[in-house]
Amino acid sequence: MTEITGIHHVTAIAGDPQQNLDFYTGVLGMRLVKRSVNQDDPGTYHLFYADAEGHPGSDLTFFPWTHLAPSRQGVGLTVEVPLTVPAGSLGYWSERLAHYGVAVGEAQPRFGEKTLEFRDPHGLELSLVESDDPRDFAPWQSSPVPEAQQIRGIHGAKAYQRELAPTARFLTEVLGLKLLAQEGGWHRFGISGAGSHFDILEVPNAPRGQWGVGSVHHVAWRVADTDAELRVRARVAAAGRRPTEIIDRFWFKSVYFMEPGGVLFELATDGPGFAVDEDPTALGEQLILPPWLEPQRAQIEAVLPPLKLAHPA
Ligand code: ZN
Repeated sequence: MTEITGIHHVTAIAGDPQQNLDFYTGVLGMRLVKRSVNQDDPGTYHLFYADAEGHPGSDLTFFPWTHLAPSRQGVGLTVEVPLTVPAGSLGYWSERLAHYGVAVGEAQPRFGEKTLEFRDPHGLELSLVESDDPRDFAPWQSSPVPEAQQIRGIHGAKAYQRELAPTARFLTEVLGLKLLAQEGGWHRFGISGAGSHFDILEVPNAPRGQWGVGSVHHVAWRVADTDAELRVRARVAAAGRRPTEIIDRFWFKSVYFMEPGGVLFELATDGPGFAVDEDPTALGEQLILPPWLEPQRAQIEAVLPPLKLAHPA
């Protein structure tokens, strides 16, 4: 029995924030549920895309660091973010993505699930995976994508590792995940249920991956509350992974550490959620700063590029 209940969110590095916003809201039809800043680098946005209510597990977030070089794929880096879509919807998605000029191939089976691979405008590898596994989901009524086809949330994450064994031991013995399946060299870890898969391919001779535009920055795992978070944190510390103290991210509470293969992980609590500081009907429309950054609002707003919410049909 693990206290981790799935993936909470995945955070990636984008280029131009307006292009990022236009793609995730306008093409993929996700909702911008929080427009904030990187709390360690407040001159950079932190943009959160999710379902209408920002349920834990539905959330893909970005730091638009336009000055960074493109990422280099390799070991110790998460290489793809699979997103869940309803069974039977990939025909719709293939046409929609092609309409917006996104290169898509044929859908392929992966672990028995129909999967469509593509990239976002800044090179981040994404896939849409058909699954009707039950999960918390609130449709976004203003999405350009009909409710029946809307993205349900994060399906999992995929990473390359130089050595499988140390990460496999960490995932199973410290985080309490299970080895669920193997296919084509990929090892799937997770818990049963939606949005919890972490797939690893061992590539012993690949170079170390490098963060940059188009790469995943970290994968956050869900815990119910700070009590559960502290218990997992203690196991991570006992395994020598030097977790941070609990950091208040305002919409959730976070702990960060590196797993043995070098992927940055986070633990994040389910609450209090994105409606704690905004009217749920107006999420994402205003720049929201955590209270300790409010005194610097004028300086922060002066350096952030303007962002316009648009919803192309
Ligand atoms: Zn995070």
